[in-house]
Amino acid sequence: MSKILVLPGDGIGQEIIAQTLKVIDYLNANHALNMTLVHGLVGGTAYDKTGSPLPQSTIDAAHQCDSILLGAVGGYQWETLKRDLRPERGLLSLRSEMDLFANLRPAILYPQLAKASTLKAEIVSGLDLIIVRELVSGIYFGQPRGIEMRNGQRYGFNSATYFESEIERIGHSAFQIAQKRNKRVCSVDKANVLEVCELWREVMVKIAKNYPDVELTHMYVDNAAMQLVKAPKQFDVIVTSNLFGDVLSDCAAMLTGSIGMLPSASVNQDGFGMYEPIHGSAPDIAGQNLANPLATILSLAMMLKYSLNQADFAEKITVAINDVLDQGYRTQDIASDDNKIVGTKEMGDLVVEALKN
Ligand code: NAD
Repeated sequence: MSKILVLPGDGIGQEIIAQTLKVIDYLNANHALNMTLVHGLVGGTAYDKTGSPLPQSTIDAAHQCDSILLGAVGGYQWETLKRDLRPERGLLSLRSEMDLFANLRPAILYPQLAKASTLKAEIVSGLDLIIVRELVSGIYFGQPRGIEMRNGQRYGFNSATYFESEIERIGHSAFQIAQKRNKRVCSVDKANVLEVCELWREVMVKIAKNYPDVELTHMYVDNAAMQLVKAPKQFDVIVTSNLFGDVLSDCAAMLTGSIGMLPSASVNQDGFGMYEPIHGSAPDIAGQNLANPLATILSLAMMLKYSLNQADFAEKITVAINDVLDQGYRTQDIASDDNKIVGTKEMGDLVVEALKN
């Protein structure tokens, strides 16, 4: 039995989570998924109801659950609030409250959607890689940092720092994820220039000994960027630091060309994770039954695989989504001329229907 905190958030978050709940309800009722749901508030909707984008009740509920399923946060009406009260702050605080240090960003391109990519279909069709990015340390957090006067001119500086233990824990996450996939980890660094990366590489080599079934390779970040565009299907799991992961994961996501299809997760040491689509609250299409719910339904599949050890259910959901795409159904964001265009709710219903096969 698993207990999940459901946080729809704002904008299309409400609509796409509603479709994901249909999938959970179906699997609970017909396939003994055994998932209990707790509902909570986050983002602008939480601010409107409680005065905070992350109410204490949501934090308490998160600590009592096995994982979080999140829609998205944000919207024009909250953009003028003080920074601490903005919807996005709720999300960042929740990540740090739960110590979600590993960000998992898959880039998956269903063969049926190969035309959506800007790359040639044969380069990307069937792409399935995952980037494991360190999320709470590295140059974004390192000290000292600042802008000051030196030698009569302004001087800006940041520090790329990692403790060995921080590299170890992200490394363990990457190897364990690889064990559930194709058993290959590529560690991306810049060890030819940066000492912090020399340490990164040494630690990766050290912990690889705990995972003899997983192959470890290394790549410099400049080459990794090139290879992602040239031959992305060579990768299984990429593990990298906060800064490199930030850049490479957006690049990898764009290989697929469809923001409405990509799930993501941020997980902690205990396997607790927050699972969410990579896209935002899309205020431009909110409330119009236009949003693609598949990234959120795939976030549920990711949760089942990586946090709840229920890979069979994850597979079932993925197969159902493939079925729906095979039948030619698309939401408007991923449609081309010969498709049958459906709305958010209809797409949710079609996935549930496909689960019955
Ligand atoms: P966005 O991802 O919300 O939207 C970008 C574009 O993609 C829009 O044209 C939108 O209509 C489209 N789109 C996004 N998701 C889609 C879906 N599921 N189906 C169909 N089309 C989809 O990014 P944005 O417009 O830059 O930001 C909007 C709000 O979302 C902002 O307030 C921003 O801060 C917030 N945001 C939140 C998260 C999050 O909750 N994790 C992430 C990014 C942005």
